[in-house]
Amino acid sequence: LHIETDAQVSRIEFSAQTAEAIVYEKDGAPHRVRARREIILSAGSIGTPHVLQLSGVGPAGLLQSHGVKVVHDLPGVGGNLSDHIGARRVYATSSRNTINAMMRSRFSQGLAGLEYLLNRSGPPSIGAALAGGYASTEPGLDAPDIQMFFIPFNADSYSGALPPTSSFQIIGYRNHPESRGNVTLQSPDPRQAPKIVANYFSAEKDIATTIATLRLIDRIGKAEPLRKLDVVQIEPVAGTDSDAELEAHIRETATTGFHQVGTCRMGTDDLAVVDPALKVRGMEKLRIADGSVMPTLISGNTNSVCIMIGEKCTDLIRNRM
Ligand SMILES: Cc1cc2nc3c(=O)[nH]c(=O)nc-3n(C[C@H](O)[C@H](O)[C@H](O)COP(=O)(O)OP(=O)(O)OC[C@H]3O[C@@H](n4cnc5c(N)ncnc54)[C@H](O)[C@@H]3O)c2cc1C
Repeated sequence: LHIETDAQVSRIEFSAQTAEAIVYEKDGAPHRVRARREIILSAGSIGTPHVLQLSGVGPAGLLQSHGVKVVHDLPGVGGNLSDHIGARRVYATSSRNTINAMMRSRFSQGLAGLEYLLNRSGPPSIGAALAGGYASTEPGLDAPDIQMFFIPFNADSYSGALPPTSSFQIIGYRNHPESRGNVTLQSPDPRQAPKIVANYFSAEKDIATTIATLRLIDRIGKAEPLRKLDVVQIEPVAGTDSDAELEAHIRETATTGFHQVGTCRMGTDDLAVVDPALKVRGMEKLRIADGSVMPTLISGNTNSVCIMIGEKCTDLIRNRM
């Protein structure tokens, strides 16, 4: 087995409809590797449709508009992008047991670092969500429609900055959002990132369920176990109560769950990209094994499913299915 790291795949080369080789760039130089048996793409829900489109496999009109020669017109490549998008309430508390309080000073940060080095315990040893749960936002559902997470800190979702106030957050999202986005080529240059349009909350039901999620989180925040911690809601600001105000808060502050899937989805219809054996439809010797093949989101976090897809791909290859 040979693994090449720090290499970026630029495209797959085909002979007619058969995948023959990959071209990748490393240290500024192009390299080409021929496949004796087959090629398995595992570049994730953004990278995999991007590489396919760069290689001429995707919606013909899109490829032609960027001057990419069409090898196979497969209109589903890059569509059907689905993600969990979470809304939150943030609470200040008198409790000192939040990461914000524990990491406030250089001294406490040093102590936390020392504890981790000596015992592998303390704030640096824990995951982001210490508790979670599923709930139904309306009666009569077959299964819970939302997942929530209790997170013992309040941080900016993107910069990671921790405000000094002792505070925590409860986040929730709809398990099976209906909104769909897409990933499309912006340039035939592989170093140019593709365009990602998430279309979060474009489906009305997604916003309605997320408003219901915030209302449920509100009930949890006001219930006895948390009330004992003198919680004061700091986000959204007090008085944000109507559906319209909550919707505005959600649209302004909701953040990705980093669970993007579906951009090369499995199926047998015209928009499906891979067949049930993970083979790219209409092509030979080319499979996909990553989150992009999931037709819809699961009711949970996606990592274990992606690992399972890889394991399944191994079985399929061993059995030559
Ligand atoms: C910040 C964050 C937190 C998360 N937390 C959780 C969690 O707590 N629990 C959970 O279950 N899931 C979590 N997830 C989701 C989980 O990580 C993903 O669902 C999963 O890793 C997706 O697997 P994948 O194989 O589809 O793609 P990836 O794991 O994204 O792997 C794709 C790989 O391909 C590489 N690549 C892309 N394009 C190219 C190219 N052109 N050439 C070469 N290489 C390329 C990428 O660099 C990447 O290494 C999290 C994701 C993120 C980003």
